[in-house]
Amino acid sequence: MIKNILSIIIVTIAFFTSAQEVKYNLRMPKPQNHYYHVEMELSNFSEKEINIKMPIWAPGSYLAREFAKNVNLVKAFDGNGKALTVKKTNKNTWNIQKGNANKVVVKYEVYAFELSVRTSFLDLTHGFVSGSGVFMYVEGYKEKAGRVEVFPFEEFRVITTAMKVASDGVSNDGATTYVFENYDHLVDCPIEIGNQEEFFFTAAGVKHKVAMYNFGNYSIEKLKVDMAKVVEGATSVFGQNPNKDYTFIIHNVVNAQGGLEHRNSTVLSVNRWTYEGPKYIGFLKLVAHEYFHLWNVKRIRPVELGPFNYDEENYTSLLWVMEGFTSYYEKLILLRAGFYTEKQFIDKMWSSLNYVEGSVGARVQPVAHASFDAWIKAYRHNENSRNTTMTYYSRGSVIAMMLDAKIIKHCKGKESLDGFMQKIYKKYYEQKGRGFSESEFKKEIASFAGQNLDDFFAKYIDGTEIPDYNKEFAPLGLKVEYTGEAKPSIGLSIAESGGKVIIKGIRSNSSAEDAGLSVNDEIIGINGFRADKKSLDDYFKTVNKGDELSILISRDNQLYSVDLFVTEYERPSFKYSLSEDKQYYDFWLRKP
Ligand SMILES: [Zn+2]
Repeated sequence: MIKNILSIIIVTIAFFTSAQEVKYNLRMPKPQNHYYHVEMELSNFSEKEINIKMPIWAPGSYLAREFAKNVNLVKAFDGNGKALTVKKTNKNTWNIQKGNANKVVVKYEVYAFELSVRTSFLDLTHGFVSGSGVFMYVEGYKEKAGRVEVFPFEEFRVITTAMKVASDGVSNDGATTYVFENYDHLVDCPIEIGNQEEFFFTAAGVKHKVAMYNFGNYSIEKLKVDMAKVVEGATSVFGQNPNKDYTFIIHNVVNAQGGLEHRNSTVLSVNRWTYEGPKYIGFLKLVAHEYFHLWNVKRIRPVELGPFNYDEENYTSLLWVMEGFTSYYEKLILLRAGFYTEKQFIDKMWSSLNYVEGSVGARVQPVAHASFDAWIKAYRHNENSRNTTMTYYSRGSVIAMMLDAKIIKHCKGKESLDGFMQKIYKKYYEQKGRGFSESEFKKEIASFAGQNLDDFFAKYIDGTEIPDYNKEFAPLGLKVEYTGEAKPSIGLSIAESGGKVIIKGIRSNSSAEDAGLSVNDEIIGINGFRADKKSLDDYFKTVNKGDELSILISRDNQLYSVDLFVTEYERPSFKYSLSEDKQYYDFWLRKP
């Protein structure tokens, strides 16, 4: 009885309390001015005041970009058009004194003139909306579902986004209304508005849409076949694909910017001539990378990466898993899909391995720290970064290969890293509906590999040691030899700029550093000879350990003479060969 009365009360309350509603209108009346005009229609908010906020970052790109810097003319009105007081309370928050108004309309403009996969853009050729830099949210109400109506500029005919069109969403004036489940969903669906060319293909049972902004040397028929193979290859890792549909927005430009992942879409920025010749495989690799992310990072994820905090940095030590494993799988997918030969696949992994071990920063920055500090280091390179940082992409991909080898060996060729990915997908995404902590991840991978990995983590993930690759990769049928050797070096890199030879990098603990040379110094002469870039390159090739060099430089227009001795530097490197005992080589390469 009590139960029945309670449920009646709950139903009654639900009936009489109108839910808050959020609706956005997006307009672009003058694209040449690069301003989006945004309206937020907020209904049934009972608070006397509300805060609206602009995110500081775009998920997937770990840098505080301060999108509020592009926002102007924030105004608010009640349902009768009466202006409400708007006050700025911190860098990305506007406080609105709404009193008893049942309806509030917030209007603002966003300057959009940075064409990249994580920022927004508008001109007379097209508009691109990366949601977290255009749509604000009501503090405390990010979970609210809502609608967004897009009014394209009169000469734009096509809107491409992974968001669903509302059942009543198509109007006669060219505007289209979309529905979103919550704010995370809204900003996870970038929008391309213009006259882009669209085409479709079905792969892995999923309907795929591709929107091409601007000219490129692509063949739609070829892309339909090859992108489908990549999709099938990625899906085969998990044995299932969680999406019903998936959208590619592709910007064909001069300066390619890479890609950004979303749950059922991606944005790729590629050079417009990438679709023929040797560059084409790079395009397919990018497709594989971003597509794999729909599982790894968008669903399989550290607990810090979703639901997101848009107000500040979201720190995680696991980007080496999110980006590194994805970098390993992008290559495995191309192998599975038939775009790489076995040798090409191993060679690609090998160049990552030698890049990692040959980097000075690899001995300074553990990959867990590289992940955590992405916000302050990975996207903020300076002249010293090469001495102090390590990329979690390459190092993470090599660690993925080592963990693959451990699992394959432990399971005697019955399981691989694929099985582990499937397991954490099921356990955390499907069953628990959340991300994992760093310690949970560590426990899961150790249990799947059937061994204690404390030492492995301490040395290679939280530490900077060089692994015993010969031992690590033996189960994969690879023999590994160290090939590094000491060579004469003074430790500087130079470039020509405006007819001058300028120092661009100085290696830590090199004779150049010890002698007092610095980045930005202009090299004028060496051992009595005038220097140009070519003669210096030639000269440095002839020096031997112990040679004395007298270098004339200009620093801030003052001349200095710097004397130093050539020393030696040993850059670690490795080569592989296939062992006679192939062990689990075929299984590793996922041969059927
Ligand atoms: Zn990535």
